[in-house]
Amino acid sequence: MTPPIEIDLISDTSTRPSPAMLAAMVKARVGDEQRDEDPTVLELNARVADLLGMESALFLPSGTMCNQIAFLVHCRPGDEIIAAANAHVFGSEGAGASALAGAQFRTLPTANGVFQAAEVEAAIRAPRHRSPRSRVVSVEQTANRGGGSVWPTATLGEVAALARAHGLAAHMDGARLPNAAVASGEPMSAHTRGFDSAWIDLSKGLGCPVGAVLAGSSGFMEEALFWKHRLGGAMRQAGFIAAAGLYALEHNLQRLAEDHDNARLFAGLVDGAGGVAVFPAEVATNILFLDLTHCQLDAGTVASRLREHGIRFGVEGARRMRVVTHLDVSAEQVRRAAQAFTRIVGGG
Ligand SMILES: *Cc1c(COP(=O)(O)O)cnc(C)c1O
Repeated sequence: MTPPIEIDLISDTSTRPSPAMLAAMVKARVGDEQRDEDPTVLELNARVADLLGMESALFLPSGTMCNQIAFLVHCRPGDEIIAAANAHVFGSEGAGASALAGAQFRTLPTANGVFQAAEVEAAIRAPRHRSPRSRVVSVEQTANRGGGSVWPTATLGEVAALARAHGLAAHMDGARLPNAAVASGEPMSAHTRGFDSAWIDLSKGLGCPVGAVLAGSSGFMEEALFWKHRLGGAMRQAGFIAAAGLYALEHNLQRLAEDHDNARLFAGLVDGAGGVAVFPAEVATNILFLDLTHCQLDAGTVASRLREHGIRFGVEGARRMRVVTHLDVSAEQVRRAAQAFTRIVGGG
């Protein structure tokens, strides 16, 4: 019998609402969200618009819906989105941009999910009737498959300015923008400056059970609202879940630094053990990858041995695992996970 999962490092989505968060949810004032009558949702939208330095914001069920609505607003069929080859919008959203907005991707190879304005410039198509129309530049802060790396705000500003100069929209998948803000010490609005649309996930490091908030100009939001209804994203007494978001922005934002510390702690304990290499070499936030190329065991075997100890990591490939820290794993649990892992791979 496999024991229950006690230390879950598969993703920062595996958090459960804390008793205090649940208490805030139960107390929420609610109304019909679809009629703009839910005061808690309206408060959350205003709070996120303010944090992201945008005119307006919109509560949605998921981050994926935020990305898809943004592309639906920015693109017409046949348009092209420039994004990193390892971007979530390209590889992990069921090809939504092409299936829904009719857009295609032009992907940029990157080491860590971060690209430069000059690379975008080289990828923008010359306006010709036989070419796709370059329409959006999409960045991911932090870059998930880039090992949780943080885009410097200067690079983000250059990319946004270049997009504007060429008549493209700049979009930020900010699933972990809160992590980037805490890691860099610069507010979220410093990261989104110059962007046409950006969003944050409530259900990742912030620890909420559900939800994401998409922000942009009021003109963008008029169109986004239309798509929210069309896709079935409009809700009713959604204030109960928006209350979790407000609670999280108040209590769970600054503490993300602990998750970053725990990820660094883990990396320090396992790097080199049994031939395992940690990527990135300098862990930036709460995500890291384990390269098992030079290890005797493959990722699937290591994962099932870990499961026997009630520990779960992500399996990303035959020789690649992912570890994500979050508010439901303590430093002590991270130490235990590292110890179990090094023992399994024969490093100690
Ligand atoms: C999780 C994630 C998403 C999608 O968010 P959901 O709320 O799970 O739909 C998008 N982009 C990145 C980088 C993510 O990590």
